[in-house]
Amino acid sequence: MVITEQPSVTRPERAEYLDLPDPMLPQPYRVQQIRKETPDTFTLELEPTNGAALMPFLPGQFNMLYVFGVGEVPISISGDPARSRRLVHTTRAVGLVTSALRQLKRDDVLGVRGPFGNSWPVQEAQGKDVIIVAGGLGLAPVRPALYSVLSQRDRYNRVLLLYGTRTPNDLVFRREIENGVPALIWKYT
Ligand SMILES: Cc1cc2nc3c(=O)[nH]c(=O)nc-3n(C[C@H](O)[C@H](O)[C@H](O)COP(=O)(O)OP(=O)(O)OC[C@H]3O[C@@H](n4cnc5c(N)ncnc54)[C@H](O)[C@@H]3O)c2cc1C
Repeated sequence: MVITEQPSVTRPERAEYLDLPDPMLPQPYRVQQIRKETPDTFTLELEPTNGAALMPFLPGQFNMLYVFGVGEVPISISGDPARSRRLVHTTRAVGLVTSALRQLKRDDVLGVRGPFGNSWPVQEAQGKDVIIVAGGLGLAPVRPALYSVLSQRDRYNRVLLLYGTRTPNDLVFRREIENGVPALIWKYT
């Protein structure tokens, strides 16, 4: 089965959101870790400045990241939905705001609004083969779906990731790819 973006049927009910921060107000998050993925792509790991739990998110959703005084951009969440302490985003520096994101240092604070958007139909794929197809930085928004599937590996049949980049230097999450993931069949071009 090819995973395609569809409206979520697992989205939390509105009542579950009531105790969560207003999604229109940026919440302050602190940069905890910065990892260079490729020459122009980097991953930021963020934690709420007040030590609160992360906003729950579904695989495929995105946040608005706000660099104070510069601007705000939509960036997909690339981390594990089950990992509740850090919010992970992988970004390519292409313009004003994404270049400002790349300049951030550990302990810098930025604003986060979200999560927004639909999710991948991870639950609906249970009991079936799963094929995830991604190119270049497109692996970032599907990585949470991959984490979700692998965390319940026995509920799926074959799991296949087809991943291509222009050159080997453009591989994101290279360490994970090179180390392989035991429960997964990797094919990368
Ligand atoms: C739902 C969603 C999820 C997304 N998820 C991700 C993600 O996970 N990771 C990610 O990296 N991106 C993601 N994006 C894309 C990201 O939001 C954009 O790359 C970002 O908004 C660009 O903002 P910027 O201010 O850095 O660029 P801008 O300054 O707005 O520039 C935008 C474009 O114009 C070009 N440009 C800028 N200045 C000039 C100039 N002087 N001359 C010629 N061209 C110029 C830039 O090269 C760029 O291509 C996502 C977008 C959406 C809508």
